Amino acid sequence: MVNTVESPLFPCPLILTQERYVTKVLFNKAKHKHLREIITEGVLRMHEMSLMLEIIKIVSENARLHGFSKVDKIDVIVGDLSNVLPAALELAFFHFRKQGLGILDENTELDIIREPAKAKCQTCLVEFIPDYRLTLCPMCGLPNCLLISGETFRIESYEGSDEL
Ligand SMILES: [Zn+2]
Repeated sequence: MVNTVESPLFPCPLILTQERYVTKVLFNKAKHKHLREIITEGVLRMHEMSLMLEIIKIVSENARLHGFSKVDKIDVIVGDLSNVLPAALELAFFHFRKQGLGILDENTELDIIREPAKAKCQTCLVEFIPDYRLTLCPMCGLPNCLLISGETFRIESYEGSDEL
């Protein structure tokens, strides 16, 4: 039996494995903006726990909606200037995985995709790697810099499956 997924929200390429039909579900970029809001409101370092809790909740709910009984892998993008510590996020994931939260089990994986920080000076147009969100241009010394990347924090995709 083929587990096909029809969703207007997510493109779902089917991947066939030996024991299961695994489906990768890509998350809509515009959705889950509130994950970023949790960061800005969040209590430092404890917030990786609440962020991970939220991620598992969102993914599990979505996976159930698609008829999956299990989440195999979750891909999360973490920007270098997103105020999220990848190690702390991973630790939180292991903690909740052990608890069997949502529809995770002991084989569910977490893949953290790092997004490097990049900024561009609006005056002399030089591109550089900033250490902070607010920074001075290393070329002209002016504070007229725009952050191009590194602030992202979102769920990129997940893979769900169903026993055959
Ligand atoms: Zn400059």
